[in-house]
Amino acid sequence: MGEEEFEFTVPVLVIGAGACGCMAALAAHDAGAGVLVVEQDARPMGSTGMSQGLVCAAGTRAQAARGVVDSAETFFADIMAKTHGQADPVLARAIAEESGPTLDWMAAAHDLPWELDMGFRPSFGNSTFRVHGWPGHGGQDMVHLLHARLEDAGIDVMTQARLTEVFADSSGRVLGAAIQRPGGAVEKVGCGALVLACGGFAANHALVARHMPEMAAARNNGHEGSQGTGLWVGEQLGAAFGDMGSYQGYAMLTEPQGISVPPGVPVTGGVLVNGDGERFTDETADIAGMALPVLAQPGDHVWVIYDARIEALADYIPEMQALLALNAAKQADTVEGLAAAIGVPAEALAATLAEARAAQAEGRPDALGRTWGDDVPPAAPYRALKVVGAIYHTQGGLQIDGAARVLRPDGTALPNLFAGGGAARSVSGPAHWGYLPAMGLATAVTFGRLAGIGAAAVAARPPDGAA
Ligand SMILES: Cc1cc2nc3c(=O)[nH]c(=O)nc-3n(C[C@H](O)[C@H](O)[C@H](O)COP(=O)(O)OP(=O)(O)OC[C@H]3O[C@@H](n4cnc5c(N)ncnc54)[C@H](O)[C@@H]3O)c2cc1C
Repeated sequence: MGEEEFEFTVPVLVIGAGACGCMAALAAHDAGAGVLVVEQDARPMGSTGMSQGLVCAAGTRAQAARGVVDSAETFFADIMAKTHGQADPVLARAIAEESGPTLDWMAAAHDLPWELDMGFRPSFGNSTFRVHGWPGHGGQDMVHLLHARLEDAGIDVMTQARLTEVFADSSGRVLGAAIQRPGGAVEKVGCGALVLACGGFAANHALVARHMPEMAAARNNGHEGSQGTGLWVGEQLGAAFGDMGSYQGYAMLTEPQGISVPPGVPVTGGVLVNGDGERFTDETADIAGMALPVLAQPGDHVWVIYDARIEALADYIPEMQALLALNAAKQADTVEGLAAAIGVPAEALAATLAEARAAQAEGRPDALGRTWGDDVPPAAPYRALKVVGAIYHTQGGLQIDGAARVLRPDGTALPNLFAGGGAARSVSGPAHWGYLPAMGLATAVTFGRLAGIGAAAVAARPPDGAA
């Protein structure tokens, strides 16, 4: 397809208007490039909008302001330890080194108010306070803020515009894309560089069944737009892929409200029990894979049991506030009352809680291997929420390098294709057990920024061989 056949041409074309796309657009714009963002939805949200808006990053000014000492070396070591050495070390190094400067840049250049979340204490592999957020706010606010900054910068976002085709020359250089509008009209847009910020594939049941069959029957609690756009584009252009079986399978989606119980609830003492009133997993062992033991329990749900103390620790979080506003939790002053409220055998539930308390008091791991430390298992007055396991987002995708350039299987970079966030390989290793909390957005914002910088540089250069 020749350049003259495009209706118009932009230097940098970004597909997807979640965190990754917004960051790519802002970074490319700051680097001096003209940018167009296209988004299939009428109102951009993506999985970013459904998220808690928490981002992990090391060596930030926000950490320093709280006296927290962290570094790229420590973060890198945490990622490699969590993934048993199976994360792509190049990508792990890039996240470890660039996440901090990215968050500092978001704050300094674009006035984005992320602070260190001191309520999200070191857990699930983060060895220090590293999770950043905006107290009392979540993903929707993050999307609104990012789009406000795009508007301030004069960056165009074309909504109700779906990428349906990519045009490339024989070297793999992307020339442009077909964008379908409502009613079926198609616009052909030329570009100097293409950024795939189109999320993962958790909403595509066929792809989930192919790459993570153990989650084939699980409900999707991510954005419907995560259909694997990056996969078909990458396959067409001869890209490599990595960690395709990696995902976040969170186990604490409340039924029927569909609200995620904050991870701090199990971390600070909450437990999961099944319909027999028994615990079945160390709730702190594998937060991203907890959906699996939950799905393996008899019946179609389990219960997360906590207490008023644990609730108070989490009540600054929007999800907990929503659960409180809905009066979603069953409440009881005795174990017998709790057992009756949730329909499990009272004797078994009492024994379950007693064993956890004894393990905590004796300072030994309990029968499931959970080490309690100072965290106290639930005590009266009790709370219980009915929860199910679900797939939230995928962590595998297009193989990129540390500058967010999409690679071929031989390790060479495609000439002008970049990716980040859900569309790209992350740093979670090959399965569910390598996910560090708040890594989904860390890769979205960090590789989004790097993709924008790289795309602006490539778009400014004439193609090889051109005058
Ligand atoms: C409930 C929930 C809670 C989460 N909480 C956290 C958290 O607190 N911290 C964290 O780090 N991670 C969290 N995650 C994961 C995190 O939300 C994602 O990893 C992250 O949002 C990915 O960002 P993204 O920009 O790559 O994708 P998205 O935000 O999903 O954006 C991709 C966009 O691309 C659009 N798109 C797709 N295909 C096309 C196409 N063909 N044409 C045009 N547009 C297209 C989509 O409509 C979408 O708007 C959570 C996920 C869920 C579901």
